[in-house]
Amino acid sequence: MPRKTRRRRGILVVVSGPSGVGKSTVVKRLLKLEKNLKLSISATTRPPRPGESHGEHYYFVTQAEFDRMVKRNEFLEWAKVHGYYYGTPLKQLKDELARSKNVVSEVDVQGAASMKQMVEDGKLAVTAVFIFLIPPSVDILAFRLKKRKTEDEEVVNYRLRAAIAELQVMEKYDYIVVNDKVESAAEKIRAIINVEKERTLLN
Ligand code: ADP
Ligand code: 5GP
Repeated sequence: MPRKTRRRRGILVVVSGPSGVGKSTVVKRLLKLEKNLKLSISATTRPPRPGESHGEHYYFVTQAEFDRMVKRNEFLEWAKVHGYYYGTPLKQLKDELARSKNVVSEVDVQGAASMKQMVEDGKLAVTAVFIFLIPPSVDILAFRLKKRKTEDEEVVNYRLRAAIAELQVMEKYDYIVVNDKVESAAEKIRAIINVEKERTLLN
């Protein structure tokens, strides 16, 4: 017999993977496909890239502002990634989940690892699914990083070396999705969300 319907909390969808693999691109596409999905907007000390705006892609903050947010425990997690600081604000994430929205969080491997630990330790009482996005090949990853043209060659090479190391942690994730075509990667994540939503009925 079906259980009594109750208002379900949303699920947290963590999308991680190496820099340049296409996380932002795929998540952007996914947000268009899934109306009940909200983006967790991180704060960062990195300067905006052309086309990025405050409050839409990131909250662009100064180092002093970021430090203040850390002191006030405003972040679920934060990490230094490629020389800049990035943090996931806790309040927005909790509020959206409580409103039954699903939330997608795009973080580096350190952020995903700390979120996973918090969920496992019961410090973050949410249903979460961890997805690792991989490139079809390392050569394609190198090509994509260069194509984005947002970093100079030295930074691209550094990010590429880091990416190869980051690929080693993929077995810790619930799902591995190959970002071959943006559309199909977004569709695969959409299918995962739909399956995971059903699973929460059993919790
Ligand atoms: P990340 O957020 O993981 O650092 P981006 O989303 O910025 O990566 O993508 C890096 C570059 O690769 C961008 O120029 C983007 O347009 C391109 N890209 C992303 N996904 C694909 C794909 N499936 N096919 C071809 N190019 C892609
Ligand atoms: P970019 O500068 O290319 O936007 O992001 C660099 C890296 O930081 C990416 O791997 C991205 O997923 C990650 N990132 C973005 N926001 C956060 C966050 O709030 N926490 C953590 N740990 N990583 C983040």
